[in-house]
Amino acid sequence: MATLIDGKAIAAKVRAEVAEGVKARLAKGLRAPGLAVVRVGEDPASKIYIGGKRKACSEVGMQSWEHVFPETATQDEVANKLRELNADPAVHGILVQLPIPKQLDDRALLNLVDSKKDVDGFHPMNLGSLVMGLPAPRACTPFGVMRLLQEAGCDPAGKRAVVIGRSLIVGKPMALMLLEANATVTVCHSKTKDLPAVIREADILVAAIGKGRFVQGDWVKPGAVVIDVGMNRQADGKLWGDVDFEPASQRASAITPVPGGVGPMTIAMLIRNTLNQADRYDTAKV
Ligand code: NAP
Repeated sequence: MATLIDGKAIAAKVRAEVAEGVKARLAKGLRAPGLAVVRVGEDPASKIYIGGKRKACSEVGMQSWEHVFPETATQDEVANKLRELNADPAVHGILVQLPIPKQLDDRALLNLVDSKKDVDGFHPMNLGSLVMGLPAPRACTPFGVMRLLQEAGCDPAGKRAVVIGRSLIVGKPMALMLLEANATVTVCHSKTKDLPAVIREADILVAAIGKGRFVQGDWVKPGAVVIDVGMNRQADGKLWGDVDFEPASQRASAITPVPGGVGPMTIAMLIRNTLNQADRYDTAKV
């Protein structure tokens, strides 16, 4: 039976570290880190996510602001707000909550965020830094997965890692982070042939597909570490991961639950990135 990797407890540890970092800044007479969130429209899930992010900020002594635009907002209106936030010294992190309405070009808006204030790791400069192995904010969800592996005592060096999914938010940066940590990495997607055979080779399996209980227990290599990024809301309101948890946990050596695994780490790494950006770029006393 696999050991459970407790994302809630590990996220609490990260949040406590960030709170210490904020205190240290204040003790030096530096500004508290600040996170500005831009929301366009009234998506209920986005509101919940933003609420969680702002609560995490206030718990560690950071400032946060939410800038809300109506569903009908134009590209220029949102772009102007981003330019204003780029110029505001109290703002160390800027986040455009996705998804945004279809009339807006989300990539163009994300690219407008100053790379020094990007806390999602989605800016091309920061994605490029990841490719080059340079320090920069890392995409929060895969960054959180790396911390889970570390806390579970799983060093990726020399291991076979399989990432299912190639999105810019999870799969691709995940593969690069595992490569950076010296794993031998395979990235799978919807065109991959004989997915179960590839998964059976994985010492570390990261599933980021978006299909509930898709990965079958008997695809998991005995002793593998299984990280389930999937969050699939069922009709009855229950949340399912991408991995069929019960049978997979009979074979894995360690596994993340859903909920309570990767999910809590994403917000923890967001505030970590915000503190890091403040420490990198704002050392002026206030
Ligand atoms: P996405 O952009 O839809 O990407 C899904 C990926 O899965 C794509 O690369 C797709 O391949 C691949 N895929 C789909 N069907 C497949 C199949 N049958 N076999 C192999 N690969 C397949 O999703 P995402 O944004 O990366 O998110 C993935 C999951 O993680 C979702 O459940 C999401 O809710 C969850 N998530 C959780 C967090 C968190 O904080 N816990 C954060 C972000 C996302 P193609 O590229 O070929 O289409």
